[in-house]
Amino acid sequence: MPAPSQPAAPRDEIRTTTCYMCACRCGIRVHLRDGAVRYIDGNPNHPLNRGVICAKGASGALKQYSPARLTRPLMRRPGAARGDGDFVPVSWDHALGVLEERLRRVRATDPKRFALFTGRDQMQALTGLFAREFGTPNYAAHGGFCSVNMAAGMIYTIGGSFWEFGGPDLERARLFVMLGTAEDHHSNPLKIAISRFKRDGGRFVSVNPVRTGYSAIADEWVPIRPGTDGALLLALIHELIALGLYDREFLVRYTNAGQLVNLDEASEAFGLLVRSPAAPVGNPQYPQNQTWWDRLSNRPVPTHTEGADPHLLGAFTMPDGTPVKPAFQLLADRVADCTPDWAAAITGIPAATIRRLAHELGVTARDHRIELPIEWTDSWGREHPSVTGNPVAFHAMRGLAAHSNGFHTVRALAILMCLLGTIDRPGGFRHRAPFPRAIPPAAKPPSSPDMVRPNTPLGALALGWPASPEDLSVDAAGAPLRIDKGFSWEYPLSVHGLMHSVITNAWRGDPYRLDTLMIFMANMAWNSAMNTMAVRRMLNDRDAEGEYRIPFLVVCDAFQSEMTAFADLVLPDTTYLERHDVMSILDRPISEFDGPTDAVRVPVLPPAGECRPFQEVLIELASRLKLPAFTTADGRRRFRDYPDFIVNYETEPGSGIGFLAGWRGANGDRALHGEPNPRQWEMYARHDCVFHYALPPSYRYMRNWNRGYTEWAKRNRIRRFDDPILCQIYSEVLQRFRLAARGRGPGRKPPPHLAERVATHFDPLPFYAAPLEALATDTAKYPLRAVTQRPMAMYHSWDSQNAWLRQIHAHNYLFVNPDTARANGIADDDWIWVESQWGRVRCMARLSAAVEPGTVWTWNAIGKAPGAWALAPDANESRLGFLLNHLITDELPGAGGPVANADPVTGQAGWYDVRVRIAKAAATEPAETFPRPPPLAPAPGVEAAHRRWQAFVAGKWIGR
Ligand code: SF4
Repeated sequence: MPAPSQPAAPRDEIRTTTCYMCACRCGIRVHLRDGAVRYIDGNPNHPLNRGVICAKGASGALKQYSPARLTRPLMRRPGAARGDGDFVPVSWDHALGVLEERLRRVRATDPKRFALFTGRDQMQALTGLFAREFGTPNYAAHGGFCSVNMAAGMIYTIGGSFWEFGGPDLERARLFVMLGTAEDHHSNPLKIAISRFKRDGGRFVSVNPVRTGYSAIADEWVPIRPGTDGALLLALIHELIALGLYDREFLVRYTNAGQLVNLDEASEAFGLLVRSPAAPVGNPQYPQNQTWWDRLSNRPVPTHTEGADPHLLGAFTMPDGTPVKPAFQLLADRVADCTPDWAAAITGIPAATIRRLAHELGVTARDHRIELPIEWTDSWGREHPSVTGNPVAFHAMRGLAAHSNGFHTVRALAILMCLLGTIDRPGGFRHRAPFPRAIPPAAKPPSSPDMVRPNTPLGALALGWPASPEDLSVDAAGAPLRIDKGFSWEYPLSVHGLMHSVITNAWRGDPYRLDTLMIFMANMAWNSAMNTMAVRRMLNDRDAEGEYRIPFLVVCDAFQSEMTAFADLVLPDTTYLERHDVMSILDRPISEFDGPTDAVRVPVLPPAGECRPFQEVLIELASRLKLPAFTTADGRRRFRDYPDFIVNYETEPGSGIGFLAGWRGANGDRALHGEPNPRQWEMYARHDCVFHYALPPSYRYMRNWNRGYTEWAKRNRIRRFDDPILCQIYSEVLQRFRLAARGRGPGRKPPPHLAERVATHFDPLPFYAAPLEALATDTAKYPLRAVTQRPMAMYHSWDSQNAWLRQIHAHNYLFVNPDTARANGIADDDWIWVESQWGRVRCMARLSAAVEPGTVWTWNAIGKAPGAWALAPDANESRLGFLLNHLITDELPGAGGPVANADPVTGQAGWYDVRVRIAKAAATEPAETFPRPPPLAPAPGVEAAHRRWQAFVAGKWIGR
């Protein structure tokens, strides 16, 4: 009798995990047939996207099966030049052995000669830990060239920021103002929220030079010249103060608006907040003994004295004769001349529009107060019967941030939000855990060369939040400790580092030469570099002895990008469908307004070829190098692999705090903290890969000053301290740097050539000045501003390899306002030259009334180098598509030599400051883009491009 046949394995399966087609981290369901991806849709149970999926997310299958996949470790062929992409395959053993030997030597001699910089890395808690344990300060992710101004400007003002760390409460807002935002930050959640907001009758105003994406569905589009938002925001503040349309009660109790500032220019404490000798200091790191001038008793009193009511306006004299003013008066003085007419001349927005907007903001906030029946207690013990709010919400991102004046622009926005009384209140801005954090957060970067020692972990975190010059990463002479000059006097608050400066500085050997530069997932030889062609030359440049100026370059990526061609060693990463991953509370979680939320990815497919997750590479290297956090007391390897690390790593032995907050404790019944749970991954996988902790209602609002919340956050190690976090209308931190620059006090002072720069830009109150590049440009010769946006259907350079998404965009145009085009003799589809003082690009023009006349713009990162991303050398992306980056400089002239084209406060790259002119190309010129580097051949292990990519059906490449 024949044996009964085994039941066939089910052909179809659905696995849940987390999307990574952009950085938003939506929940997805991957539909598999016979182990191959059929299609991907949104997970309806996921709190972030509730089943919604975008074009990118749905096209994940075509990324998984991209012909550009790197599948084998590669080493540059001996004798081949960098940039040629001429590699030989090697085994992982060999690759890791080479790296281990090299890193062991560097760590034993001078660990800062190893630098690790990562792109849109969603595991910075791990990459940062690796750098710290290795002992190098030279670590950062992409934030410095993304939106650090947004993070720093907001966090130094209100203790939180947009996107991962907070956002608009559109469920209760009536008026929503979005500034400088493309479609891609918090993408699906924001789309869901805006759709509901509009259906509920909310009014949506978009301030943006370009009307695309979100702006296209706004009720009102307010076109603005790029880099001038600061002027608009200061004029709105001017109007609100002039009209008295500000939330006085909020300013008094929850900001430092009423605190007195020492105005005795002869005093060493000039410009600092006046301390009250009668009041307890509290936590010396965040002293709470500031002073008000009480209106009722007409004398100075400690802040938050029960029964006192401070003056916000006026000038006073302390009993010892010191002249003082409340911080709010200084703000009013600052904006006195920032009238709508003044701003109109800068921004291009009519003064009447600015006045109308200010009035609408103030009246909506004042007249539509929200009251929720939620009792809570503030940090000073006052009990409140309800939570109240003002229904005006904002959202802003890179359009405000990516200018060399962006830090103060973002400060102005945060202060405007404070004036309207909308911080962590219903209908306004709301925090997401682990924010709010102290101002500034407690972590500090290394502040002395002694913190960088051979074979020793770094004496601090590589990245932190300076509170004074004493926290800077400089030596006794004031010279930078970091290769990117982060936290130096050039960019003191560069809290995300300056990835955009690493290659130039390492090439120049300023402040020193590197030995090994490891780049993860960042296309630094193309769309992530300013001055792209020069950076490519630097990567391939040698010193007088014939050695590469950057001696060893390791690139870890899943795809053959332009950057991989320059590597000495290529490590093939997995895709997001092939690995474990953690969006951790220690890092950038996906928290909701009502409580901490974290998420994971779990592998739904085996790795292609010999690919290994970069996380595994780091755990392996850390174990081989015996970095302390990865090694047991008796010198053995502590973690088997990355999943084991995630389960068992604790921030301190026995702390019960690890990368994941959900299903902790031996049985998985603890949340936020608890001993390691060996079945934690399984429990996440069973719960849609997401963990959400709902705070009790009384902890969900006013969290800067909510005693219940701050104590809870401290108990659960979400915050280090439980002091109230007063919003900083006036920034004492900035004033400390300014005092140092003016030679006051006993502490560190900037080198003389940087003193004026620091004194100018470390203004305790926001101010508007034109971006540095505009000041270094003949704007009559280069009258237009040029900016880029990420398209909704593509995320950076990732999606040019995606056959489905390429059907939406395969090349880009320069969009030009029809009036501007006419004035320059340009018609639709003409080939044109776009020229800045730094370079020129040939591209195609497209006329569009959706851009203000003084601005031209294009989609970012669609233009490709020939042959990169496994595209055919004559693909539209490289023949017709172009990069604006060729027009953008990475450096500007400075008093003591070149400085980064960046914000002098934070080091944020000034991507959107470039000035250009346009002209029609000659009819005799080739109809293709310029510049075009030589074509790249596919690296070993990378497939030739599919010629029948249209035939991907239901998980199979039909006919391949
Ligand atoms: S918004 Fe981003 S994370 Fe969400 S589905 Fe689209 S690509 Fe994926």
